Amino acid sequence: MTDDQTMEAQKFADAGLVCPLGKYPLTAEGSYLVCPNCGAKYPVRDGIAMMLAEDAALPAGINSVSELKCSKEK
Ligand SMILES: [Zn+2]
Repeated sequence: MTDDQTMEAQKFADAGLVCPLGKYPLTAEGSYLVCPNCGAKYPVRDGIAMMLAEDAALPAGINSVSELKCSKEK
C-alpha cells in the first residue's frame, strides 16, 4: 500500500461514494473504501474505485454478498 493509494481512496470517500448495496457513505481505509454498515471493502485500483459488490472484499464471517447487512436491508 502506498500513500498515493490511500489518498485515492480518501478522494473517493470525500466525493461521497456510497455502498452500492445500502447507500451508506463509504470511509477510506488504506486503499479500500469501506462501508460502515455492512463492512464490505471496495478496492481502489489504479485510481478507479471498484464499486461492484462482486469486487468487494467481504468482512470476516461473511461468505457471500447476499449475507452482507446492506443486502439484507433491501
Ligand atoms: Zn454496505
